[in-house]
Amino acid sequence: MRPQILYNLFAPIENLDGIGTKTAKLLSKLDIFKVVDLLWQMPHSIICRKFVPNLMYARPGDIITLKIKIIKHEPNKQKSKPYKVICSDGTFDIVLNFFNAYPNTIAKNLPIDAEKFVSGKIEKFNNQWQINHPDYITSDITQIPQTEPVYGLTAGISNKMMQKFIKQALALTPKLDEWLDEHFLKNNILPSFNQALIQIHNPQSIEDLSQKNAARTRLAYDELLANQLALAMLRQRQKQKDALKICGNNMLRQKVLNMLDFELTNDQQQVLNEIYFDQAQNYKMMRLLQGDVGSGKTIVAFLAMLNAVECGFQACIMAPTEILASQHFETLLPMCEELNLNLELLTGKTKNKKLIYENLAKGKINIIVGTHALFQENVAFENLGLIVIDEQHRFGVHQRLSLSNKAKKADVLVMTATPIPRTLMLTAYGDMQSSQIMQMPKGRLPVITKVMNCDKLNDVIAALKEKVSDGAQAYWVCPLVEESEKTDLAAAQQRFEMLQKTFGTNVGLIHGKMKEAEKNQIMQDFQAKKFAVLVATTVIEVGVNVKNATIMIVEHAQRFGLAQLHQLRGRVKRGIKQGTCLLLYNTPCSAEAKERLAIMKETENGFEIAEKDLQLRGGGELLGTKQSGWQNFKIADLSMHKNLLITATNDAKFILQTDTSFTSERAKNLKNLLYLFEKDESAKTFKA
Ligand code: ADP
Ligand code: MG
Repeated sequence: MRPQILYNLFAPIENLDGIGTKTAKLLSKLDIFKVVDLLWQMPHSIICRKFVPNLMYARPGDIITLKIKIIKHEPNKQKSKPYKVICSDGTFDIVLNFFNAYPNTIAKNLPIDAEKFVSGKIEKFNNQWQINHPDYITSDITQIPQTEPVYGLTAGISNKMMQKFIKQALALTPKLDEWLDEHFLKNNILPSFNQALIQIHNPQSIEDLSQKNAARTRLAYDELLANQLALAMLRQRQKQKDALKICGNNMLRQKVLNMLDFELTNDQQQVLNEIYFDQAQNYKMMRLLQGDVGSGKTIVAFLAMLNAVECGFQACIMAPTEILASQHFETLLPMCEELNLNLELLTGKTKNKKLIYENLAKGKINIIVGTHALFQENVAFENLGLIVIDEQHRFGVHQRLSLSNKAKKADVLVMTATPIPRTLMLTAYGDMQSSQIMQMPKGRLPVITKVMNCDKLNDVIAALKEKVSDGAQAYWVCPLVEESEKTDLAAAQQRFEMLQKTFGTNVGLIHGKMKEAEKNQIMQDFQAKKFAVLVATTVIEVGVNVKNATIMIVEHAQRFGLAQLHQLRGRVKRGIKQGTCLLLYNTPCSAEAKERLAIMKETENGFEIAEKDLQLRGGGELLGTKQSGWQNFKIADLSMHKNLLITATNDAKFILQTDTSFTSERAKNLKNLLYLFEKDESAKTFKA
């Protein structure tokens, strides 16, 4: 249960003054739902109000505070004109303009002959000083702050509103006992949690907004520690549970190795040894397998599954899309038939679901391939021994956990082609075990990568035409324009129509708004070479394998993250056939964007690319998509706070090692921290 002391912070924002259903809806666009969410809004800049004794010292555009005397009112005769209040600073005249204002309110706030302080942005219009809608009108200058934080906003929520809401949230924040180590605080000269919040929301100068200042560092550390502690607890719990000991007789595996027309690479063998070792232990395996597209993860997963099957267990492999699930199914089917194993496919559109459920529950199915349909409530296994999750960055943490709950004892192998820098690994898994396939199977040709200005489009099309007439197939990926799928689609549609002029029926279109069945059909047709050029939004980003496609053209390449480009390029890494990747950029293209594209030309090493991407863009952007399922931090910024993260990892480890039952005084306070950052699941399991 959440500690009572935090109740106010976790109340819905509608509880605050000035927030009704309408405002709450607007705030939800900023991911603000509860009072506590307001605390995490970090100001991105600051307004400094200058007090000027008179207008001689003002420059148009400045934000100033000024003492004025009201001379006369000029109500608006037409609706479109402002209500004007003519004032004087003693030397110069100044006009205060009010559009759509209530005359009574103005008359009351600015009575003739009264002296007031006003503050706002000063402009000079037709040689006349004026302020439109002053931010402050008051008789008491202490009511006007000298500095004010500026927050990220959305239409309908003004900065002033946001400030008011955050003030209320701060007032509702209880004084919390310190959960950080005393020496750590002293050595790093960090404020308390409560002080840090107050400092952040009352910045006095631009330095106070820096990620590196003490208040921000404090909160970033809190956030990272909550994250690392929660993961460490999860891990500890998993280790404490006993799991299946799996160590097969190698019969099935040997048969498969004999069937293959290739030998495993050293890396594949090494990774398998690591997996087999984990499977044989009496703790639950939680292992991440990283390997570039085409590095041969599927066969590794299959062999690990067979190890479980050899011991009489079931195994499953989950893919993020139906296309990918079917692809795995088709890859594994001939081998399973040879081995006399029962392989099934379960996706959203599988027809005989009931029968599959039954057979799964009875243990008649050895291996099942599927989408997240595998983890619907009615799916029960008889004795699941291994769960493989492919291309895991598509799945959120919640899915990963719920899936882990399906089979409390089953081992879990997570596979990804997205190289994950260590920092991100830590935030997503804590110190989860990981294995890498760094080396590609023998004889693979590198992809030729070219970076070109988009104004060469006609040359590109002409060259493509030539290749296509030689039998080549190509992907043509259209820009991801901001976050709106609509524009994304429009661009792809437009390019599709344009390419039809050159390629006729030899071009197809696939996009995220299509029905799954439609997408499958198009991918099948493309695979069957029914057409040569596939125009796509980014739906093809994950895993899909069309063996004959050797050309990848990416428009507006500068808008993609490096990791995404790397994934796209991986689609045409065909080994014996030469792959080509054209990255088209549009001008203007920033120096940073050009630098990023240049990295793509320099290296094909996914890990190198990921590290560079993290440096250049920061963690949140790494995968280029919001639904990436990676931990998104509210305060911490991994490109700045890498060292803090590592400290937090060690701190979390230390906490659990020295206080395994989580019952110390510090643990009691840490529990508040976990709840503050919504790690309820972890916090609940320990009764402090
Ligand atoms: P990914 O890691 O992207 O999932 P896949 O498992 O789909 O890669 O493997 C890509 C291709 O490489 C497949 O056709 C697979 O049969 C082949 N492959 C896997 N391992 C080897 C190897 N050791 N030598 C040659 N080809 C291999
Ligand atoms: Mg794969």
